[in-house]
Amino acid sequence: MKQIILTGDRPTGRLHVGHYVGSLKERVKLQNSGVYDEIYIMIADAQALTDNAEHPEKVRQNIMQVALDYLACGLDPEKATIFIQSMIPELTELTFYYMNLVTVSRVQRNPTVKAEIQMRNFEASIPVGFFCYPISQAADITAFRATHVPVGEDQMPMIEQCKEIVHKFNTVYGETLTDPKIVLPENSACLRLPGIDGKAKMSKSLGNCIYLAEEPEDIKKKVMSMFTDPNHLRVEDPGQVEGNPVFIYLDAFSKPEYFAEFLPEYSGMDELKEHYTRGGLGDVKVKKFLNNVLQAELAPIRERRKMWEQKLPDVYDILKAGSKKARETAGKTLEDVRRSMKIDYF
Ligand code: ATP
Ligand code: MG
Repeated sequence: MKQIILTGDRPTGRLHVGHYVGSLKERVKLQNSGVYDEIYIMIADAQALTDNAEHPEKVRQNIMQVALDYLACGLDPEKATIFIQSMIPELTELTFYYMNLVTVSRVQRNPTVKAEIQMRNFEASIPVGFFCYPISQAADITAFRATHVPVGEDQMPMIEQCKEIVHKFNTVYGETLTDPKIVLPENSACLRLPGIDGKAKMSKSLGNCIYLAEEPEDIKKKVMSMFTDPNHLRVEDPGQVEGNPVFIYLDAFSKPEYFAEFLPEYSGMDELKEHYTRGGLGDVKVKKFLNNVLQAELAPIRERRKMWEQKLPDVYDILKAGSKKARETAGKTLEDVRRSMKIDYF
């Protein structure tokens, strides 16, 4: 069986370091592993419109920003098909058929949907399109016959819902769709990176992000303003490492060579954590180290991004060619689906 990847992001803002460790970094690694036959990366503009219906211009502009972030991180259009969701109308038709295989109460039970409804204050008035986005996500995944979906942990309920739709479809209409597998980052600190405000998730919509394209001065300001252990007031106080955003970021980004370069008095994370827990290590010192680590990680990304910003017509061509190829693939799956459903009349 072919090994196929499908993943993507909503063009609701520039991408941040949470996206990077939660999904982007993994994608680039998988892309370069040589294991996968096809890789599809979707800019989910139609999904972004489900909670931004009044701001199509924002979604439109962020398509280019997300594409630039992709290329900056090392996604390679020679190896990965980057495309725009709404340019593939076949996806909406698939969604329409899948809607019949899911109950309202099942979507209501989806923990990610629940959390997002709350976050957006949608409780009293949920747009139907937003409510149905897990179903349309199942259409996205299955249209490309994805076997692997590399995403952050918050997407786990979505993939489960997709698998249920696949099983239901195959049971009712005969073996047609491919069952996908979620691929989570191995490093647990990367599963769900908290915001710089200490909130559970760094998210474009919460404004608690360090962006991939952030300028060095802004990275530093944000790191120095980050939440830490609220009870660690004086340097000599014992501090808590668990749940401390600064240490979670270090677990996500630090490499042994950064200690040699920026903090040679410590052998590595274990010794640094041990000192903080014992007391006698100040937040400022740890934050300065984190700043150095992030600067080192983000500098090459920012440079590559600036290079692509000079070539916007090329980026546009990449999206256009990617969308054309993606549409052909989705069209074939839709044909199979209609045949299985016996609605391929002419
Ligand atoms: P929005 O607030 O508009 O939903 P978002 O920041 O949640 O934006 P998405 O486009 O919904 O970003 O998510 C894109 C991908 O990035 C998904 O695979 C998601 O799991 C992952 N991701 C998003 N935020 C984080 C995070 N803080 N830590 C780890 N992974 C994340
Ligand atoms: Mg999201």
